[in-house]
Amino acid sequence: MGAGLLCGFFIGRFYTLKNETRRLKNDRDRTLSGLMALMNSTNQLNDDVDVHSVALQDASQEIDRLEREDHFDDLQTALMSNITRVFQSNRKLENDLVVSRFQLESQAQELDRSRSEARTDGLCNVGNRKAVDETLQFMVSRYQQDRKASFGLMLVDIDHFKRINDTFGHQAGDEVLTSISFALKECVRPKDFVGRLGGDEFCIMLDGLSDVDVQLVGTRIRSAIELNDFSLNDSGQSTVVTMSMGLAVIEPTDNAESLYERADKALYKSKQLGRNRLCMIANESIETVGLTKVPDYASYDEFKTQLNEFNTQ
Ligand code: GH3
Ligand code: MG
Repeated sequence: MGAGLLCGFFIGRFYTLKNETRRLKNDRDRTLSGLMALMNSTNQLNDDVDVHSVALQDASQEIDRLEREDHFDDLQTALMSNITRVFQSNRKLENDLVVSRFQLESQAQELDRSRSEARTDGLCNVGNRKAVDETLQFMVSRYQQDRKASFGLMLVDIDHFKRINDTFGHQAGDEVLTSISFALKECVRPKDFVGRLGGDEFCIMLDGLSDVDVQLVGTRIRSAIELNDFSLNDSGQSTVVTMSMGLAVIEPTDNAESLYERADKALYKSKQLGRNRLCMIANESIETVGLTKVPDYASYDEFKTQLNEFNTQ
């Protein structure tokens, strides 16, 4: 009974936290869109005030040019003083608008910053699990709207990472994770997505590529990591790291879960077949590609030059 109550307490707490996070996200989204609307209307107001000021200036010059007659003199003076007052309040309004716009912009930037921090992995500076889930969902929905927006999901897991931790220490393991994520980002185009799923597992979403291109890029990324010597602890020591990868390219019947499952199955196959390789599941069958190191690169730098050329094509 005690255990039941404890379970109930934790399940209740889990759902409360989940609802709380969702509520905070909704509040933040609403505030951000409110700020954007406010900023647009201050922009509009600023333009209106500008137009109004020009019209007043024209009217004031027009009145000043009128021939003075005695009975008209008082009226002209009163009119000019009114126009001067409107000018002054317009100028104050303009200043107030500049200040308000600046404050609104700063607040919007601050919100944007915390939004991006909430989606960034603290250690590796790539997307975190939340960013992975959101990006995958977005890319799948975009593909369902437009079949030309194809993409490949690649799951990446470092081979025997525990050994690196055990041999060189946890701190060195952290450095390897950071270097790997940096290298992964370097290997793909800015529009591709790199995220860390947790531990030593990463994910890459390659945008707008055909099956063949995705395989090719995957093979190159795997080779790049293998060619790279990861330095450790500033001690002059370095280690070679290999990765296993699972790849799936989106198909019309896919949703985020089915695509992820296929990539995960392919990753599992890569591990099973002996690691340091890329497997892909296509048409229900498993293909192994990129098993061996691409032979014609003499160094990591040469590899990178060729990869950049490929990615900018
Ligand atoms: P495999 O080839 O089957 O993937 O073997 P592995 O050793 O990579 O797999 P395993 O899942 O057994 O080990 C992953 C290790 O990653 C275990 C865990 O202690 C370590 N790890 C998880 N998160 C971190 C982290 O943030 N920093 C460091 N240094 N190690 C981490
Ligand atoms: Mg691993």
